[in-house]
Amino acid sequence: MEKLKKRIEQLKKKRPGYGEILDFYQKIREAQDDAKASLKIDSMKLKQEWKKFLAKEGFSLIQKEDFPVDAEASVKLFQSICRIGKEANPHMAEQVRKIEEVIENKKLELRKLFKEEVIEKKVQQVADEFGLDKKVFSFLIQSSIKPSIEAGMERLRREIESEAWLKGYCPICGSLPSLSLLKEETGKRYLLCSYCGYQWRIDRLFCPFCNNKDQGSLHYLFAEGEEVYRIDLCDKCHQYIKTIDYRNLAESDPVLEDLATLHLDVLATQKGYKRPVPNPWTD
Ligand SMILES: [Zn+2]
Ligand SMILES: [Zn+2]
Repeated sequence: MEKLKKRIEQLKKKRPGYGEILDFYQKIREAQDDAKASLKIDSMKLKQEWKKFLAKEGFSLIQKEDFPVDAEASVKLFQSICRIGKEANPHMAEQVRKIEEVIENKKLELRKLFKEEVIEKKVQQVADEFGLDKKVFSFLIQSSIKPSIEAGMERLRREIESEAWLKGYCPICGSLPSLSLLKEETGKRYLLCSYCGYQWRIDRLFCPFCNNKDQGSLHYLFAEGEEVYRIDLCDKCHQYIKTIDYRNLAESDPVLEDLATLHLDVLATQKGYKRPVPNPWTD
């Protein structure tokens, strides 16, 4: 956490325009960190033969909704995040008040929502039913279960052969990557799972969204003086992924680095490319 705070200070100095969103990020990360300390999650049992079959066939180990969630801890964290959200911006504050009203009137039982499988479709349904902003509600729910998901991922990571998977989706939960990372001196490339945070190895020249490996239709752009961040574009599917080059950047939270370089997403969008997994902290 101390390292994260320090990096946030650095980034804020460099790009004062990002101050508000970086402060918000820090507060939520602190709340999530607190929640992690007392987390209780059920263990997941995996059969050895089953595991081998899945890897061979290219199936992820589990589905997103299979992660065990600590419902108590998630409800508590949800409340903390709502408190933070109320001070973040007027739209978020209005949405949080709406949600609190629904909960107070006993129309929505959060504990039940967290205890059942947290499926996106269901979150959308609840948002529809009560006229909530889907993006905000989903962000609050996802941020509240994040510590459980990450703890589940930590348990499953030793079941995975990260170097051999080489696919565009997460070997643990099957989700798409939110970012790509270059690491070690040789610049090995990794993808970061947008859902569970697992990192797995991938080819340098590869579009994770359409499996394109053709050198001629894969290129990248970056901003002058910011070569550690780049946008990897694919001309086959017209989508892109942001890459953070850790060969020339001290180890830091990739999600934070992504958040502090949203201007690169604007650039890519202007050029007509889409980001399949947008940064959940935007809007
Ligand atoms: Zn994953
Ligand atoms: Zn592509």
